[in-house]
Amino acid sequence: MKTSSPATTAPYNGFDGQYIAGAWRPGRGAAALADRDPYTGEVLTQITLADRSDLDEAYASSAAAQRAWAASPPAERAGVLRRVVVILESRREEIITWLVREVGSTRLKAQLEWQTVHAQAVEAASLPYRVEGRILPIDIAGKESRVYRRPVGVIAVISPWNWPMTLSHRSVGPALALGNGVVLKPADDTPVTGGLLIARIYEEAGLPAGLFNVVVGAIEDIGDAMTLSDVPGLISFTGSTKVGRHIGCLATSAPMLKRVALELGGNSPLVVLDDADLDLAAAATVFGRFIHQGQICMSVNRVIAVDSIYDAFASKLAERVRGLKCGDPRLQDTAIGPVINRRQMDVLKKRIAAARAAGFRELAGGEPKELVLPPHLFADVPFDSDLAQSELFGPVLPLIRARDEDHAAQIANGTEYGLSSAVFTRDERRGLRFAERLKVGMTHINDMTVNAAANAPFGGEKNSGLGRFGGDANIHEFTTEHWVTVQHAARPYPF
Ligand code: NAP
Ligand code: MG
Repeated sequence: MKTSSPATTAPYNGFDGQYIAGAWRPGRGAAALADRDPYTGEVLTQITLADRSDLDEAYASSAAAQRAWAASPPAERAGVLRRVVVILESRREEIITWLVREVGSTRLKAQLEWQTVHAQAVEAASLPYRVEGRILPIDIAGKESRVYRRPVGVIAVISPWNWPMTLSHRSVGPALALGNGVVLKPADDTPVTGGLLIARIYEEAGLPAGLFNVVVGAIEDIGDAMTLSDVPGLISFTGSTKVGRHIGCLATSAPMLKRVALELGGNSPLVVLDDADLDLAAAATVFGRFIHQGQICMSVNRVIAVDSIYDAFASKLAERVRGLKCGDPRLQDTAIGPVINRRQMDVLKKRIAAARAAGFRELAGGEPKELVLPPHLFADVPFDSDLAQSELFGPVLPLIRARDEDHAAQIANGTEYGLSSAVFTRDERRGLRFAERLKVGMTHINDMTVNAAANAPFGGEKNSGLGRFGGDANIHEFTTEHWVTVQHAARPYPF
C-alpha cells in the first residue's frame, strides 16, 4: 500500500471545541482546557469544555444516526473506511507533527503510531464484508433457527493519552465499520490526536453527520455520566486498571446494564534464559522499555535474567542504556523525549528516589531537564519490591535476577497484571514451552513486548483487562448476536 500522495490539502485547523451532532462548536461547560506541547510548553489550542447537556446531545445524535448507518450496504461503510486510508496517507506528515507536538512523541514513535492507525483503517475497511450470521440445526419440527449478528448500537470510547490516536481509533474504526454510532472521549492531555483529529478525518471521508461525536470535557462533569447513560450498549475503555475497574462497576450498577471492554495496565516481563543471544536481548529490552519514554501499557516493565548470564547481560544492557539520546522529540535521532506532564514526572521522581533509598544498584541514571527524564536502570531489584511490582510508565527499568528458568517463570507471573511478555532463548521449542506457562494475553519469543497487529488478538489476562481487539475479535466485541426463529409449520403444544 502506498504511504504518500501529493499533499495539496490545507492543514486542518480550529480544534477549539467539540464535534457534536455533526457541528464543530464550543462546549457549554464553564472552563477551557489548555492543550500544551510537553516539550516546549507552548499552548497548541484552547478548548471550551463540554458539559452534561453536550454529552447527552452527542449520545442522542449517535443513536439517531446509527439506525440508517446500520442498514446501509457494506460497500458504503467500507467506502468511508477506504477514504479514511487515503486521507491518512495524504495527511501523514500533518498527523505525525500533531503526535510529536501534543503527545511529546519522538518522530520515530509518531511514525509508528501513524502506521498502526493506517493498518487499523485498512483492517476496518474489510470488516463490513466479514460479518456472518448462522443457521443452526434445531430439534423442533418445522422451525428454522437463525442467528443474526447486529451492531451493538452506540458505543462509548474512552482512551488514554499515551498512544492516543491508535488507542481511540482501534475502537472507533471497527465500531463504525460494523454499523455502530460512536461517542468518543479522549484523555485531557490529548484532545486533538485522541479525538478531534480523528473526527476531522472521518468527516472528510464522508461519514454521515451525527454518527460519530467527540466530547472533550472534565471528568467531574461527564466521566461517570458516559457510563451511566442509557444510550451506549458498550463502553470500550483503554486506560488504568483503577479507572477501568470503576467503569466496570458502574456499567453493571447503572440503571441500564451494559457491556464493557477493558484494556488496562500492564507489568510486562522480558525474560532472558541462559541460551539467549545476549546482544539481541539487550537491544530488544532497550527498545521495548524506552520507546515513547516507557509510556506504553506493553512496555518492558521488568527484565528478568537467569543467574548464569545475569552479569554479562547486565553490562551489555547498561552500556546500551547509557548511549540513548534524550531531548528534542522533533529530531529523528532522539530516542527519549518528554514525559506527558508534570504529574507523571513527579510520580517517576518519587519511584527513583525510593529505588535509591532501597539501595538498588543504579547502572544508569541522571537528572531530569524540564519533562525529559534520562533513562534509568536499576540492577538486583527484588521481584516483590514496589519498583518491580508497579507499572512504571516511564524510562525506568528494573533488572531482576532469577535462579533458573523455573524461577524466572514464577517471577514473570508474580504480579497482578497479564498483558504482554517476552522470552529470549536460542531454542524455539523451549520458548514455546515457556510461553505456555505464562498467564498473559500476549508472548513474543525473541522479540520485545511492544507488538500489535490489526488482525491479531490484543488484550490481557488478570488485572490487565477484559476482552480482545483485532481481526475477528473486533467483530465479536463490536456486534451482538440475535437469535431469531421462524416456526414454518404450526407447532403442537402440550397444553
Ligand atoms: P486513566 O487515568 O485511566 O485515563 C484513561 C481515560 O479515562 C482518560 O480519558 C480519562 O480522562 C478517563 N477517565 C478517568 N476517570 C474516568 C471516569 N470516572 N469515567 C470515565 N472516564 C474516566 O489512564 P491514563 O493515565 O490516561 O493512561 C495510562 C494507563 O493506561 C496505564 O495504566 C496504561 O497501562 C493504560 N493503557 C492500557 C492500554 C491497553 O491496551 N491495555 C493501552 C494504553 C494504556 P482524563 O484524561 O480526562 O482524566
Ligand atoms: Mg498536552
